[in-house]
Amino acid sequence: MNAPYLLRLLCLSFASFFLVYLALALLSIAATPAVIRVAKRTTPLAATRLLLFARLFPLGLSLLVVLGLCLPSYLLLEPEASAERVGLACLLAALAGALAWAISIVRAVRASARSLEYLRRCRGLGADLRLAGEPLPLCLLEGETPVLALAGVVRPRIVLSRAVLRSLSAEQLETALSHERAHSVSHDNLKRLLLLLAPDPIPFVHGLSALDRQWAKYAEWAADDRAVAGDTRRSLSLASALVRIARLGSPARIAPLMASLLAADDELSARVDRLLRSGSAGASSRSPRRAALAAAAMAAAFSLLLAVMLQPATLSSVHHILEHLIR
Ligand SMILES: [Zn+2]
Repeated sequence: MNAPYLLRLLCLSFASFFLVYLALALLSIAATPAVIRVAKRTTPLAATRLLLFARLFPLGLSLLVVLGLCLPSYLLLEPEASAERVGLACLLAALAGALAWAISIVRAVRASARSLEYLRRCRGLGADLRLAGEPLPLCLLEGETPVLALAGVVRPRIVLSRAVLRSLSAEQLETALSHERAHSVSHDNLKRLLLLLAPDPIPFVHGLSALDRQWAKYAEWAADDRAVAGDTRRSLSLASALVRIARLGSPARIAPLMASLLAADDELSARVDRLLRSGSAGASSRSPRRAALAAAAMAAAFSLLLAVMLQPATLSSVHHILEHLIR
């Protein structure tokens, strides 16, 4: 098919994105068991950083290659007058790339809309609550559903139901709110949105979801650690708050961009066990060196790639590859 310049450029961009992203995502999938093993041996905070990096680096690098190499090489080295044909393979790869993006953008937009709608309803149905020492805005919901969560991405607020407020002691409530504050400090809802926005390497196949699940688990653990700050009394208090809220009934996941105090029942025993066992001190004393080493190795590989990209010969080689890809 003969295609005009701009259409060919678009086709090449999506096709090269798809191929590079697929290759890097397959590498990340292959490395997932090793990444999870390293995450297990380090602190929860370092684990969340490592897992998020492993999840998002294929996307970051693919965007860099497409925007920093493919686009400039095509714009600089491809004469506008040439009427090249676009081959079937290139067209299919471009469609897969465009479809992967369309799915992830729709997913992220829908999640944002549902979360905004939930917050709007909370403000309509609930009452603003002021608690001494709590810097985040609080919304109190009437009713028996157990809700304690941080909702919203840009201006997050804590949503709390009357049932939870009634069942927790002042100390338990304070540590539980500290847990939600910790999610706010580490922008976990924004990270959730980024994970939704990162396309699946093959449309409709969630190849990287193991990293997402592990990240979510360690994000809870890291928020627990930050909330108790190594204090045994606070650890016990948070553990008992978790158990009390669990007894109120199963936690409803009301909106997608929310960090609930209790996200899933199956995580409850592991979290309570951790809090009771060590006053969280055991976890914090584990060295984050392995995760730092892994991150440094990836950063070094990234710098090397950047250095190669900045070589003058690189653009013409990329152009050569693109010529083959488009046919
Ligand atoms: Zn949480």
